[in-house]
Amino acid sequence: MSLKIDWGFQMSNKLFCQGPHCHTYPTSDRFLKSKGIIRGRYAYAENKENSATRWGYQFPNSDKYFCSQSCKNEWLSENMTLVEMRIPVPFITERRISHGYRKVTTTHEGWQGNTYKTTRIEKIGVDNEDQSDVG
Ligand SMILES: [Zn+2]
Repeated sequence: MSLKIDWGFQMSNKLFCQGPHCHTYPTSDRFLKSKGIIRGRYAYAENKENSATRWGYQFPNSDKYFCSQSCKNEWLSENMTLVEMRIPVPFITERRISHGYRKVTTTHEGWQGNTYKTTRIEKIGVDNEDQSDVG
């Protein structure tokens, strides 16, 4: 069966990841430093028929809706009750965001006295243990 829908809201030709918590995970690819926000990802595969890599790998249909296995699993965990009850699950049509994040760089001392830096993205205003060296 072929189903062609013009969603109208897409940037690129990917849908937004339907993972219920995709926009809350502080990974560097979701982080937009200029605004201090975490953004939900796009789905892993393009939203078209027979989406495949150039090596011929055929994406499963679910890859058009989720960025990762964990988002897919979270969706199932949260929504299967609605599915069972025949209640439509709201489709995510806008890029969802979480406000109030920043990147923090920490300098560590290595085992031979040298130093190295690590960065992480954290929520502002949460009582994090290390408040030093904010980058
Ligand atoms: Zn996701």
